[in-house]
Amino acid sequence: MSRRPIVAGNWKMNASGPRAAVEIAAAVVRELNDVTAVECAVCPPFTALMAVAEVVRHSRIGLGAQNMYPEEKGAFTGEVDPNALLEIGCKYVIIGHSERRAVFEETDEFINRKVKKALEKGLTPIMCCGETLDEREEGITLDIVRGHIDNGLADLRAADVRKVVIAYEPVWAIGTGRTAEPEDAQEVHAFIRHLLSEKYGRDTADTVRIQYGGSVKPENAKELFDQPDIDGGLIGGASLKADTFRDIVLAAR
Ligand code: PGA
Repeated sequence: MSRRPIVAGNWKMNASGPRAAVEIAAAVVRELNDVTAVECAVCPPFTALMAVAEVVRHSRIGLGAQNMYPEEKGAFTGEVDPNALLEIGCKYVIIGHSERRAVFEETDEFINRKVKKALEKGLTPIMCCGETLDEREEGITLDIVRGHIDNGLADLRAADVRKVVIAYEPVWAIGTGRTAEPEDAQEVHAFIRHLLSEKYGRDTADTVRIQYGGSVKPENAKELFDQPDIDGGLIGGASLKADTFRDIVLAAR
């Protein structure tokens, strides 16, 4: 089964101003515009989306947002709606990142609303899942991941599930410099694909791309991406420099 790998840079709350963001984005376009074997995207903060959209517009680099609100307009102070993201030129939206779950107390139900709304509007959700260190040590990693997947994708039809990108990101590996061993990551990725197969059928499971995220660097990217069920990565810290991001993207070919 050949799935086109997808590598996305999650800039988090870095390079939030247009000036810094444009600099990174322009370098990413320079480094990666002729790569065709890997789907590639950058996800800057909201405040930089418009400026970065201009930079990537005629390139192969896609644009994504880091979050959205699951309604189209209204009294939701501080939130951003999916139509605005589309108008700016976003193709992707990260949903349910562990920082949103932990810091902003987002629930599976809320994440599910966002996934559904993103799909309804034609945005590709990059839906995140993953266990904390305590959960891993308790031996409940697969139960936690099953909960995130079951609840996050609740009520979707197989045809919609195929459009979702899943990012498995063990929380203890995010921003810590501590990466999952490729075999351990593969075990969870295979488990996710097995879940998808049970619920939506083999074809759908074989179509969905499952990224790994958590301290991916040029030094460990290839070993991770070589695993049969790892289809690219969601990259935080290492996506802020165009040359390290390029090396990671090239490792996914
Ligand atoms: P990291 O972040 O690469 O800095 O660990 C990944 C993520 O949170 O998406």
